[in-house]
Amino acid sequence: MKTGVYPGTFDPITLGHMDIIRRGAKLVDRLVIGVTTNPSKSPMFSVDERVAMVRREIEGIGGDVAVVTFDSLLMDFAEREGATVILRGLRAVADFEYEYQMAGMNQQLNDRIETVFLMADVSLQPIASRLVKEIALFGGNIAKFVTPAVAADVAARVQATGRKGA
Ligand code: ADP
Repeated sequence: MKTGVYPGTFDPITLGHMDIIRRGAKLVDRLVIGVTTNPSKSPMFSVDERVAMVRREIEGIGGDVAVVTFDSLLMDFAEREGATVILRGLRAVADFEYEYQMAGMNQQLNDRIETVFLMADVSLQPIASRLVKEIALFGGNIAKFVTPAVAADVAARVQATGRKGA
């Protein structure tokens, strides 16, 4: 059985992430989505909230897909899950440098695990959680970038914490 992990911050999960999950789930027998605690990014949603959102969003996509948190080295997480593949999404030029370096260093840490890059549908490629949050904080419409349920979660959080430029 081939297991893959798809690590990320998912703050919040976007249609871009969902597309990568759907594509990734077809490539492995079991896909484990790893939600990082990543406190350095000062996320809008706590790790438990992000896990709950991802679980809700992937309901009904079929296949063997699990959602867990991790705060260890990615390679240790992958090894613990029995994964032989790490899935990452690749967006245009901006992601390349960072992903290239990370994949290269991870390869040296553990060469039994391969990093595989997937491209989202062209229409979803520009979507980034960071920009979704920024647009929402300034009162913009994020309906094209996330599901209605995630848009409602973001709107509630923005309302609770205060909008910018208002
Ligand atoms: P991280 O903090 O690890 O970058 P993210 O939640 O931002 O976590 O992203 C997780 C993964 O999903 C990364 O590999 C990122 O490149 C990929 N990703 C995010 N948005 C998109 C998108 N719109 N198209 C393709 N890949 C994406």
